[in-house]
Amino acid sequence: MKFHITTFGCQMNVHDSQWLTAALESRGWEESGEDDAQVYILNTCSVREKPEQKVYSELGRVAAHLKRDENVFAAVGGCVAQQVGEGFFDRFPFVRLVFGSDGIAGAPNALERIARGTDDRVALLDFTAGFAEREQPEKLSALVPDTRQAFVNIMQGCDNFCAYCIVPYTRGRQKSRHPDVILDECRRLAENGVREITLLGQNVNSFGLDKGGAGVTFAGLLRSVAAIDGVDRLRFTTSHPKDIAPEVIAAFGELPNLCPSLHLPMQAGSDRVLKAMRRRYDTTRYLSIVDGLRAARPDISLTTDLIVGFPGETEEDFRQTLAMVERVGFESSFSFKYSDRPGVAAVNMEPKVDPLEASDRLLRLQALQNNITRKCLKELMGVNTDALIEGLSRKQDGPASSWKGRDPAGRIVNVPMEQDAGLEGMIVPVTIVEAKKHSLNGERTGEPW
Ligand code: SF4
Repeated sequence: MKFHITTFGCQMNVHDSQWLTAALESRGWEESGEDDAQVYILNTCSVREKPEQKVYSELGRVAAHLKRDENVFAAVGGCVAQQVGEGFFDRFPFVRLVFGSDGIAGAPNALERIARGTDDRVALLDFTAGFAEREQPEKLSALVPDTRQAFVNIMQGCDNFCAYCIVPYTRGRQKSRHPDVILDECRRLAENGVREITLLGQNVNSFGLDKGGAGVTFAGLLRSVAAIDGVDRLRFTTSHPKDIAPEVIAAFGELPNLCPSLHLPMQAGSDRVLKAMRRRYDTTRYLSIVDGLRAARPDISLTTDLIVGFPGETEEDFRQTLAMVERVGFESSFSFKYSDRPGVAAVNMEPKVDPLEASDRLLRLQALQNNITRKCLKELMGVNTDALIEGLSRKQDGPASSWKGRDPAGRIVNVPMEQDAGLEGMIVPVTIVEAKKHSLNGERTGEPW
């Protein structure tokens, strides 16, 4: 069977699609382009209104293609599948499988049964009590790319119920994976050539604090993964400021292969708005974490998520967000206008901010962020570091091939090198020679390893 997966949304969705690809390839299925696909899989995101609308337009777009053959069908997974469920069957008759964030574990078998004609339609939407462990695919190529970077889920779901967020409704309550299973997976990946591991969860800092916990804290898990042979770089995402423990902050100063970068969503810089968002920390707490991280690892790169136009946000609240962004000096940030999500607490919160006002605030915030980003990148000129090569750069305008890599903090570094093939997954020593708007240029200073 030929299949095609389109993925929207976060890193967890990307990893879910990688796992599903590996599981199907281990069954002899073949990943193909959209036109040749007999099974079209859409992995969806509903974090904001726009991504949800994209799902319907995407299914509308492929409808003609799917209707050409009654044996060709579609499957919808991810957060919109969890939210809308069997409603997809009514609206799009060619959709024959819907699976949620826990149901994905059963998706490969369900796809096989539908393809064989054993089942007509399947819905895998129940949340499981514990972490829904998935089969370990035989074929690992989708999970171990040439770049030798891999993601490992450590938990599913979230218990925080931030007032604007739909995730606890679409990914369920927090469930930690057993630490031994996580370590086995990390060792297996390292044995298969992976050298950079990113631990994934909605709120990794509360790992182990739910029924699924086995008495191992997130800091303890980090140390165990960092000790695995072959793990040259260790990362994790996403963190919640209210749960970050002093041991995790200290780990940045003690574990050399823990990369000096942290994505720490702040969301807003006004204590009044943070309270309304139900984030359960204030700006003083946030700044104390930032100062602790910089003391433990002075070269740490901090990035964040920000929402403008949350119900009730005043111009003064917004100015406090700008001031916090300046005070922290985030190297980059993802910023969005607030949008109502079905079922979340903020839907009933008033007054709503005028959409034009929200757009204006977003522009001002992004202008400030661009200035800070440019300044941070400029300060790296002349620094000696290294880059893990991910592939050839998009732009090739020099005599030598330009390669795109990431420095330990995750910044893009483009490096010219004679070789024009086979450098993916290598780490190259470089000196930073130029700062661009959102990336760096480097010069090779040693042999790739
Ligand atoms: S921590 Fe808050 S924003 Fe993050 S996934 Fe959980 S509820 Fe959503």
